Amino acid sequence: METGYHVVKCAKCGSEDLRTKRENGGTYGMNKLPLGKGKTSTVAMDSTVCISCGNVEFTVSSDKALARISETWDRP
Ligand SMILES: [Zn+2]
Repeated sequence: METGYHVVKCAKCGSEDLRTKRENGGTYGMNKLPLGKGKTSTVAMDSTVCISCGNVEFTVSSDKALARISETWDRP
């Protein structure tokens, strides 16, 4: 049984031809999600790009960050 891996499909077109990259690095901050006050309160997101249609998704894979979001963010 594999853990931490599952087949991801594009939410838009259903293609499985995706590429993902975690923490692109650099200083652009495009894939940093602010969690709260302060510049250090950010979490890096995995960005996944669909090669088929170009759709981009950001995913938070940090359990700590998700716990913090669930505590401090509002429900929509
Ligand atoms: Zn797609």
